[in-house]
Amino acid sequence: MFGRRPFLGAIGSLPFAPRFAAAAAGGRRDVIQELGVRTYINAAGTYTMLTASLMPPEVMAAMTAAARHYVNLGELQDAVGKRVAELLQCEAAMVTSGAAGALTVGTAACLTGKDQKKIQQLPDVTGMKSEVLIQKAHRYGYDHAVRACGVKMVEVETAEEFERAATEKTAMALFFNDADPRGQIKLEEFVRLCRKHSIPSFNDAAADVPPVENFWKYTKLGFDLVTFSGGKGICGPQSAGLLLGRKDLIEAARLNTSPYSDTISRGMKVNKEELVGMLVALELYVKRDHAAEAREWDRKVEVIVKAARKVPSVTSEVVVPPIANHTPHLHLKWDQKVVKITPPEVMKELRAGTPSIEACPATNRESLVFTVWMMQKGDEQVVARRVQEILKKAAA
Ligand SMILES: *Cc1c(COP(=O)(O)O)cnc(C)c1O
Repeated sequence: MFGRRPFLGAIGSLPFAPRFAAAAAGGRRDVIQELGVRTYINAAGTYTMLTASLMPPEVMAAMTAAARHYVNLGELQDAVGKRVAELLQCEAAMVTSGAAGALTVGTAACLTGKDQKKIQQLPDVTGMKSEVLIQKAHRYGYDHAVRACGVKMVEVETAEEFERAATEKTAMALFFNDADPRGQIKLEEFVRLCRKHSIPSFNDAAADVPPVENFWKYTKLGFDLVTFSGGKGICGPQSAGLLLGRKDLIEAARLNTSPYSDTISRGMKVNKEELVGMLVALELYVKRDHAAEAREWDRKVEVIVKAARKVPSVTSEVVVPPIANHTPHLHLKWDQKVVKITPPEVMKELRAGTPSIEACPATNRESLVFTVWMMQKGDEQVVARRVQEILKKAAA
């Protein structure tokens, strides 16, 4: 679908050489190959370090077309935001620099509203509401993007603790959607408590499509702000994301970021290419045949399972995480006395091969883990063959 595969098929296991670069890119320059930087088959998933996802050609075309015009950034953000809000059935929306960027601008919006003095004062929160409530089980690395606004995170565990911690200092309450099963206060109750105490609620659902319905589920449940990452399952620009929610908060968030220079999020600039690319990626995502796509994932998993199970003692299990990265994760295991190699060693061999293959970083000493949703057409055959080869060799 994205053009690299037929080329790979043609060269089989030859190492990449610069002279192939032009052919691979259909006659156009391919700087990554010119630089000799390794590319790989993505059997891992939407990991930022691995550049996460590939944009469909329609998205790339829209970004290239956008790059040919000058526009007023505010006017384009207005127009894109309106379309995104319609598409995702929420009151208002904006494109951000990513879900992490959305956490920062969304928090800033809750702190400052449209008050210019407060906007310029951040991350100094003197004279503002300055606390963010969060369940202890929901603490995670990305709350750094919230703390960047100068707020104090106040941890609670129970509803009673939440009610006691909700004071005139509380600016916002943050919910990490994937942590829902681990926290005592569940989605609905969290929203109810926030409403009761007039605290803006923010749900980080960055990696939580599919299912597509999640795009409107959380705003309809009553969250004031919701974010999704643009470059994960949606396959939009990797340096883009969505902030959805209440109109007044989205307007305030817009004032807290680029193009305005004296703002906390000026460094989280989003230009026209990402604005347009994000919209087109969403349009494509929403109208995709999700059931057919899920069947295709199952088929690809089956291709790898079938090949791997030809090796003695190999067993497989398919796990679909319930919330984030809701897509089949294939776990392969074997008797390491029969097949004398550990899963991390297989992972290393896959990476070192040609073409290079990245397995899921969740791989551990017990199981080798793959996801197939970011694979291009035909990748599953290459992965299946390589996995079988490596395991067979270790079984000999
Ligand atoms: C990936 C992720 C983010 C960051 O998303 P970006 O779009 O890369 O900024 C934030 N929160 C969660 C839960 C994520 O999974």
